[in-house]
Amino acid sequence: MEKHSLSNPQSRYPHSAIHRVLHSRRTIFVDALLCCDRHEGTSVIKLIKLARFLGHRLCKSFVASSRARVRFAHNDERFGLKLLVKQTTLATTAETSGVGLHTAVPVKVRLAPAPPDTGYVFIRTDLGGFEIPANVEWVAHCSYATTLMRTGVMLSTVEHLLAALRGGGVDNAFIEVDNLEIPIMDGSAEAFTEMIERAGVVEQAVARRSLMVREKVEIVQGDRRISIEPADSYEIDCLIDFPHPMIGVQQFRICVTNGTFGRKIAAARTFGFTEEIEALRRANLIRGGSLDNAIVLTPDGMLNETTLRFEDEFVRHKILDIIGDLALLGMPILGRVVAHKSGHILHAALMTKLLRQRTAWEIVDANGNSESRSMKTQENELLHSGF
Ligand SMILES: [Zn+2]
Repeated sequence: MEKHSLSNPQSRYPHSAIHRVLHSRRTIFVDALLCCDRHEGTSVIKLIKLARFLGHRLCKSFVASSRARVRFAHNDERFGLKLLVKQTTLATTAETSGVGLHTAVPVKVRLAPAPPDTGYVFIRTDLGGFEIPANVEWVAHCSYATTLMRTGVMLSTVEHLLAALRGGGVDNAFIEVDNLEIPIMDGSAEAFTEMIERAGVVEQAVARRSLMVREKVEIVQGDRRISIEPADSYEIDCLIDFPHPMIGVQQFRICVTNGTFGRKIAAARTFGFTEEIEALRRANLIRGGSLDNAIVLTPDGMLNETTLRFEDEFVRHKILDIIGDLALLGMPILGRVVAHKSGHILHAALMTKLLRQRTAWEIVDANGNSESRSMKTQENELLHSGF
């Protein structure tokens, strides 16, 4: 990302406080708040003029956030502009309950607001408030679901809830649970997304920080692979290939911004095959599994009497799992993930390899800054968490 010098924009746009402009390949980040004179009513024209001045095409729509100020919508790529983006948390608490997919235990979940730079922290309320940060450092195993463990305290199947938080644009949250597995709900992230919508999302006084990918990192295991490479936003391109008449080859690509998760991914359910179910049961897994919380596929169809929620629900669920697992990096990602027949184990391996390759990433704020001391501290913590 290179700095683009503006010849005194203040003199041409006296109402706009433009502090810094940074270009990347496709996006322009503008650290500015356009303060339009409330009496003139020319705010849109000013925005369009400013955008032209900056050499970018601008959509006419905008968000009028207060009487005197007009802002571009955060991260809305249609605008070609990004303003200073702040961290977010929940406005209030929200609760739900259900059963664990693998353990069949009943469990209550409560989402609560958390201070800036907290990330996501699970709190076992049944164990005196024991905390397990949602961080790759605490991944214990991930064969059928992603399980965290810290000093012997376990929490299973965290990925769908984490996907809802990351996909919902929430940076910081406490997640209180009173048992050892996050409830499976209907097998998708929809219930969690609804909880977040119910609670509301609010901005905090600190700039959002992201993990910006600088170099491509790849994990290959036979015909399965996953990579992450530099990009201006968080993109996922996923392909699955199951020799089943309802699946076959499915590919889906998404840019995780502006509610795309809620609209395109959140409702996609997990799935399993009848021929695997016996083995899973024998391994003491999926004890809470039923047709209410998974798509169960027979050799030539499915057991569920409902229809699919999307024609390509299967690949969409894989993207849900990728977003949930990669949320364990602890902050938003600026990078493109390309997954080919991947799964939880590959996702964890990718995160570890990425964090170990120190030149492959850095922590930046919404302006592309990476210089502050607290960010360096955060980088060091991350670097050592991937081991
Ligand atoms: Zn899943």
